Amino acid sequence: MSLQEIITRISKAEELANRPTGSTQLIAVSKVQPNSRVLAVLQQGHRLFGENKVQEAQGKWPDFRAEFPDAKVHLIGPLQTNKVKAAVSLFDAIHSVDRVKLARKLADEIQKQGKSPELFIQINTGEEPQKAGALPAQADDFIAECRAMGLLITGLMVIPPAEEEPSLHFALLAKIAARNDLTGLSMGMSCDFERAVALGATHVRVGSAIFGARDYG
Ligand SMILES: *Cc1c(COP(=O)(O)O)cnc(C)c1O
Repeated sequence: MSLQEIITRISKAEELANRPTGSTQLIAVSKVQPNSRVLAVLQQGHRLFGENKVQEAQGKWPDFRAEFPDAKVHLIGPLQTNKVKAAVSLFDAIHSVDRVKLARKLADEIQKQGKSPELFIQINTGEEPQKAGALPAQADDFIAECRAMGLLITGLMVIPPAEEEPSLHFALLAKIAARNDLTGLSMGMSCDFERAVALGATHVRVGSAIFGARDYG
């Protein structure tokens, strides 16, 4: 698929859901992709990208940004507290705020660096033990705690369990966001982004459908 095809499909999904055209932002997930593919998408005019590892992003984005200063990069993967400083300095948004210790470190570092990255709280809607994210039952308290630390929260993020219908998880995320007065919803990947748009996604994270399969070899 091409970038343009994905953009068209997002617009169609917005129209079907009676949402304004352009109300969903497309994060092109460039992790593991060869630089040539990322460059091609930058040259097509796309400016919003996602990476899931701090170190990998540090290795490529300073150079890309030198050439494309308006490019934005979002961290969509887990964040360790010892990488918070680097993450706050590099990323325009962090989608994986999921525990008090990390939130505290982020609050400190954001103040120190005078930055204001968009922050999304990751929710483990499937309650999977191996997956990051606050549990749904703890979400309201955790959101309140983050706000009490002075963090400006944009919205919520989810990665649904691989084997389940994602729409149920998107709907649950939207419900938790609504009752906490949060408007941002980071949900939907290559296989399900249209369903996410139908349920109100403001940010979809699409990798392989744009760039092709990732080669971990
Ligand atoms: C890799 C990744 C994506 C993109 O996955 P695709 O299936 O390639 O679209 C989206 N979100 C997160 C958190 C990821 O790590």
